[in-house]
Amino acid sequence: MSSDPKYKRVLLKCSGEALLGNQQYGIDVETATRIAKDIKVVHEMGVEVCIVVGGGNIFRGVSGTAQGMDQANADYMGMMATVMNALALQHAIEKEDMDSRVLSAIPMSSVCEPYIRRRAERHLEKGRIVIFAAGTGNPFFTTDTAAALRAAEMKCDALLKGTNVDGVYDKDPAKHDDATRFETLTHLDVISKDLKVMDAAAISLARENNIPILVFSIHEKGAIASVIEKEGRFTEVI
Ligand code: UDP
Repeated sequence: MSSDPKYKRVLLKCSGEALLGNQQYGIDVETATRIAKDIKVVHEMGVEVCIVVGGGNIFRGVSGTAQGMDQANADYMGMMATVMNALALQHAIEKEDMDSRVLSAIPMSSVCEPYIRRRAERHLEKGRIVIFAAGTGNPFFTTDTAAALRAAEMKCDALLKGTNVDGVYDKDPAKHDDATRFETLTHLDVISKDLKVMDAAAISLARENNIPILVFSIHEKGAIASVIEKEGRFTEVI
């Protein structure tokens, strides 16, 4: 790996599902450890890393509303779920001898720090991995939008979107053998073709702030570093 990485600062969006491993629900510690090891490789390349973690492995707002819950209430529960994942990821990261801080958009002073942009900046400068929890802090949003928002605020050079597949396809590769992967797309392509990369709010924010989105499979060992080096399989949204 080169010691002169293509990106100086990146934001990794790690979905809640990525932490499931082979489980149906919750956090698989082994998977969190694998992701932490992948982050370490990137960190050792000299890249500043911040992470937005999702909550879908524990609770999603939509599953609450499907059961008749008020959406705002259900979404707050979803945001709480992301804090649990952030703490699990922090544990895994620190076990790999990296320093990290969890910053929550919903203040939870006895658990983690509140999100303060300048503080996050300082942590990154000191070489700490910063994990942003509780999404945007607002219901009716997703952690994808939180990822684009934090990437813009922290002036990240790229948003790395770890998913279950190795990029963006013209149709669902799990259902269609002839699905083809896009090498590159524009933010506008994603919106106009209604490609399921991230929600429209996230894509628009990334577009307005000129942030490339690199979509890759988070299940592939070493993929985060490869993507930063523009190697391996991924789709670049520029
Ligand atoms: N959420 C929210 N506002 C935010 C981010 C998340 O209300 O800014 C809630 C929403 O209910 C969402 C849940 O938190 O369903 C978990 O986040 P998400 O579904 O984005 O997680 P992922 O799919 O990445 O695991």
